[in-house]
Amino acid sequence: MFGVICQPGEDRLVMKRLWLCAAAAAALTASSAATPSFAADAAPAADVAKAQHFGAWGFDLSGQDKTVAPGQDFYKFASGGWEAKTQIPSDRTRWGAFDELRELSDARARAVIDRAAANKAATGEEAKIGALYNAFMNEALIEKLDAAPLAPALAEIKAATTREQLAAIMGRAMYDYSSSFFGSAIQQDAKNPSRYALYVGQDGLGLPDRDYYLTDQFKTQKAKYEAYVAQMLGMAGWPDAQAKAQAIVALETRIAEASWSKVEQRDPVKTYNPTTVEQLAKDAPSFPWRTYFKAAGVSDVETVIVGEKSAFPKIAAIFADTPIDVLQAWQAFHVVDAASPYLSKRFVDARFDFRGKVLSGQPENRPRWKRAVTTVGSSLGEAVGKLYVAAYFPPESKAAMEQLVGNLRAALKVRIEKLDWMGPDTKAKALNKLAHFNVKIGYPDHWRDYSGLEIKADDLYGDIRRSSAFEWNFWVEKLRGPVDRSLWGMTPQTVNAYYDPTMNEIVFPAAILQPPFFDPKADPAVNYGGIGAVIGHEISHGFDDQGRQFDADGTLRDWWTAQDADKFVVQTKRLSGQYSAFSPLPGAHVNGDLTMGENIGDLGGVLTALDAYHMSLGGKPAAKIDGLTGDQRFFLGFAQIWRGKIRDDALRQQLVTDPHSPSYYRANGTVRNVDAWYEAFGVKAGDPLYVAPDQRVRIW
Ligand SMILES: [Zn+2]
Repeated sequence: MFGVICQPGEDRLVMKRLWLCAAAAAALTASSAATPSFAADAAPAADVAKAQHFGAWGFDLSGQDKTVAPGQDFYKFASGGWEAKTQIPSDRTRWGAFDELRELSDARARAVIDRAAANKAATGEEAKIGALYNAFMNEALIEKLDAAPLAPALAEIKAATTREQLAAIMGRAMYDYSSSFFGSAIQQDAKNPSRYALYVGQDGLGLPDRDYYLTDQFKTQKAKYEAYVAQMLGMAGWPDAQAKAQAIVALETRIAEASWSKVEQRDPVKTYNPTTVEQLAKDAPSFPWRTYFKAAGVSDVETVIVGEKSAFPKIAAIFADTPIDVLQAWQAFHVVDAASPYLSKRFVDARFDFRGKVLSGQPENRPRWKRAVTTVGSSLGEAVGKLYVAAYFPPESKAAMEQLVGNLRAALKVRIEKLDWMGPDTKAKALNKLAHFNVKIGYPDHWRDYSGLEIKADDLYGDIRRSSAFEWNFWVEKLRGPVDRSLWGMTPQTVNAYYDPTMNEIVFPAAILQPPFFDPKADPAVNYGGIGAVIGHEISHGFDDQGRQFDADGTLRDWWTAQDADKFVVQTKRLSGQYSAFSPLPGAHVNGDLTMGENIGDLGGVLTALDAYHMSLGGKPAAKIDGLTGDQRFFLGFAQIWRGKIRDDALRQQLVTDPHSPSYYRANGTVRNVDAWYEAFGVKAGDPLYVAPDQRVRIW
């Protein structure tokens, strides 16, 4: 349960507290949008807005492939034409509905940042936005400094010749976005969500997942990783780089063997192990815990929540028996690796060549201004968000969303009341949980205060370190106080949404409330298939295999009768089996257990959104548009939000690291369990997507 974020990637400051996440299938690595040039006077938003074509009533008819029957391949029927004529931009790992909208959002964020950067009289947050952007764009200075900004951190590691000293550096990594054998995060205590707790989890790997070290399919990537480690150490002037790289990869392979899998990490009960620091020192005695916690600024904490319990003594033992010089080299490599995006070109390129090209198949790095926008959005996210919302978020959107969320909630209420597999006791509690959902739309009521963060236009690396420390200090301070229910886990300019089980709340940032998800001018059927299904998806997360284990107050507590829980598990196992049969690449399958929560969310989401759409018609039949019925348009709108292409390496990475199924299956895998889809398109036995009625998975 520890530390899952929605979009693994470059956002080092993305909060670690989002567990059950988002509608978007966005395992982005180094990618973001392509915009033609870096002209400071470009008018990006308008240009990009034009790039999106969604037809006269919100659905892109020209993107269909009508040579494919709906029951043969619904994704292709809806978007095959788009797919055939679309190429992934060279600086992206994927391209589709989410990514196009992200490009628009990035372009708008840039417009906001540009104004701040150009305003010589700017003060406060606006001045900080401008200074950080200018710091990132000051290539001449960055080239001149080259590796120099790293020197103090590397000297400190060289001076750390005892395990105590190295554990202190690992603790300080919490302030400094570097790596440690164990990661800490401050989030609500799952069994007492009215207070915060310190969570500690396994860490220490430089590749995206343990599978990269332990399975044959990633053999090439692992070999190239060793070369990359050697290159980075060499560039940083670390002695004996080649031999140390070999030792580092061997060390991380041992950590990988000790680590829990991504599927095991999804279990909220098994990853909830409150332990006193005293007991932890007995359970995993080979690591100097008190030194580590002291360096992380949390020495006063007596009880921590341990995640992957059985991995702890093993990883601690690896720490104890690895030679000091290897531990030092390991730490040095991770400092350089994390710092590289903010150093000179040779560091940026080396990192991109491995993390972008090798791991994700991305041919070209993003333009510098794009990376600058990401960095500013990461360090000063809500400061940018405040300006973004003022410029680009119409108040009507918020009111329309409130109504849609209300309709979805009403539809799910009826669905739960009618469930034939669930008994009255569990139903009453499920309905109570639904009634207690909190909803956040657009942007926070209270914005983050960045007055304590120092940003200097001539010190990019220092800015990044100070931002990281600022973020960790923010949470350390929170740890001692009451839970702040006004906080957001995403910025308003994020094209995504999430459910937070300990808050029992769904959150929809401003940037997702746009076409093709939501368009006030579109046919309601398309809006319900788009943003309606997204809302339904997030609500359904409250009742997926993880979310169902939290009650109305956000407490991790079993509120189910044993009989109802058994029936739920039978259905989810069948859903898992369906998805595990999907093989998007030779020799690689979707992991039905890893993606279970998201798949349950997709299925519950589309069913609830369809009911809400029907309720909105008030008993009248929907008129046909372009020969299509209301239900047909609903399902096409749903498929349209999942149109997307992805590079093979990025897809391979997604399959082992990302709890979201590839977008192709989020369309096809979902509709085949929905009776109304069969009726809408006349899908029959014998069609490739056909599932017999008694084999369709029915959960919510
Ligand atoms: Zn989700």
